[in-house]
Amino acid sequence: MVLPDFVVGVPSVSFSKRLFIQWKDAHPHRIFIMLSYRHGFHAGNHADVLKHFVLIELLQYLGQKDTAYTYIDTHAGAGLYALDGGYASKNAEYETGIAPLWNKTDLPAALQNYLQVIKELNPSGKLRYYPGSPYCASKIMREQDRLRLFELHPSEIKILAENFRKQEAHAAEQGIRPSTRGKRVMISAGDGFESLKALLPPPSRRGLVLIDPPYEVKDDYRRVKEVLEDALKRFSTGTYAVWYPILNRIESRQLPERLKRIPANGWLNVSLTISGPSPDGFGLRSSGMFVINPPWTLAATLQQVMPYLVSALGKDAEASFTLESGETETIGRAAKVHKPTHKPTHKPNHKSVR
Ligand code: SAM
Repeated sequence: MVLPDFVVGVPSVSFSKRLFIQWKDAHPHRIFIMLSYRHGFHAGNHADVLKHFVLIELLQYLGQKDTAYTYIDTHAGAGLYALDGGYASKNAEYETGIAPLWNKTDLPAALQNYLQVIKELNPSGKLRYYPGSPYCASKIMREQDRLRLFELHPSEIKILAENFRKQEAHAAEQGIRPSTRGKRVMISAGDGFESLKALLPPPSRRGLVLIDPPYEVKDDYRRVKEVLEDALKRFSTGTYAVWYPILNRIESRQLPERLKRIPANGWLNVSLTISGPSPDGFGLRSSGMFVINPPWTLAATLQQVMPYLVSALGKDAEASFTLESGETETIGRAAKVHKPTHKPTHKPNHKSVR
């Protein structure tokens, strides 16, 4: 079990400063926007629930075979967040996501696996800490598997590195053999989009890549597609999961359609909407996970879990989910998107939000 103070330590990570300065000089137009995004403001919201639940499902599927796999997180964030202080308490977005699930006793089995990771982080039973994608992954992954984490923000990378350092120190205190950091876990201060290609294909030819940029700049939408096209040429059998916000902006609407056309063996697209638009039009109410080369079991699991999430997190009659999947032709040939195999939409009973 990790210690709660993991989330507050800010040690120095000497390698980050130099690389960050290099990146800043190369991308002067992106620096202010990049610095303003802190995932802590959104930790544990409905979008995190969808993303981390699907992530855990994908990792558990990879863990069914003994052969090691590599998990690459191109936009890792801080790894762990305190919900009762700091950024997360400002807008309390976790109240749209993890909070309504916390005391449920009728969770579908797959959702229980996800909740279990968060319960272990909160042994007192009170929901105080929420895991980011690196922490979720490290809890599911085995000794032989490899985590490769990238983060560009100079403060987030320090917290991420410290969280992992303390996690290992704590494990050592419990008599658990340290997992030779540098081998099992590598944390790099760098641009995840640019760094991905050097890691593909992973040594065991088994792997999952999570691409989860902030989308504060519209360039992120373009880069997601380009990095995937390149990655699939290097590692065509890998699984790739992309989180994306569903917003009115054209780039957001177009992203899943563009990803469907990338040559791969297949894709799955799931989205969760928790409400209709707010009167002021602000606030994220809908997001999706696009998975390239998904495990064959994923669609059936989502068919069970998504109606539950809609009814547990939905705020009004516009709460719904979509689930679609399809096949594209194999790498090297023109992509042809087949009709989605299924696209159910579930609407829960109307719940008052006024
Ligand atoms: N994946 C994390 C999770 O689920 O817990 C959340 C990541 S958050 C949505 C996006 C992160 O990407 C931010 O911490 C941001 O600082 C970082 N970031 C932005 N641009 C980046 C880039 N080009 N390469 C690596 N990290 C980047």
